[in-house]
Amino acid sequence: MSGLEALIKRLRAEGVLSDPRVEEALRAVPRERFLPPRLEKYAYVDEPIHIGHGQTCSAPHMVVIMLQELELGEGMKVLEVGTGSGWNAALLAYLVGPRGRVVTVERIPALAEEARRRLKEMGFDNVKVVVGDGSLGYPDEAPYDRIIVTAAAPEVPPPLVEQLAEGGILLIPVGGRYYQDLLKVEKVGESVRRKRLMPVVFVPLVGRYGYGGG
Ligand code: SAM
Repeated sequence: MSGLEALIKRLRAEGVLSDPRVEEALRAVPRERFLPPRLEKYAYVDEPIHIGHGQTCSAPHMVVIMLQELELGEGMKVLEVGTGSGWNAALLAYLVGPRGRVVTVERIPALAEEARRRLKEMGFDNVKVVVGDGSLGYPDEAPYDRIIVTAAAPEVPPPLVEQLAEGGILLIPVGGRYYQDLLKVEKVGESVRRKRLMPVVFVPLVGRYGYGGG
């Protein structure tokens, strides 16, 4: 059994992977294509993998949990904050399909450049990679049906709530610099509902509504 199939089998057995569309996306978007060549052999170890610049490609189980909680549909417009390797952006692009769109923001230009190259090479024409401070969102293309933040913030950045469409879902790890809770924020009419999903550990969001420094 390949590393990918073994991982899928384990994530299903553990009750983590339940959505057949997300399973399909994992098969369609190989994680090894988004890792530094010397680390490709670790692609199906269920751990975050270092991608340089002190950053990581998130662990597969966490990516699966977030993709499922996003309740993605074809044709949706999604904002991702924290492009990193580009793997999650590619999975998002696969799940929203050619009629959908993904805008992904990365603060480290070298990572953004590399992710842009990989996404283009793999034919993901529905993804735009932007260099900037994603804690401010990306107002040019707002509103977004879904927003996913793959770095940890001290609070929910107000611009992200503003840029979320009516009925939209925002997923974000919120808490301290080292340990956080994954929050699911839903905009329903005038109200904004927050639900705490689980404890998580993410690298910090660095920016205006993130942590200072860096
Ligand atoms: N989604 C990524 C993937 O599939 O590889 C994993 C992202 S990694 C856990 C978090 C990323 O968020 C890092 O690449 C980091 O540089 C980026 N980041 C941190 N603060 C940011 C900000 N304010 N705006 C945009 N990106 C930010």
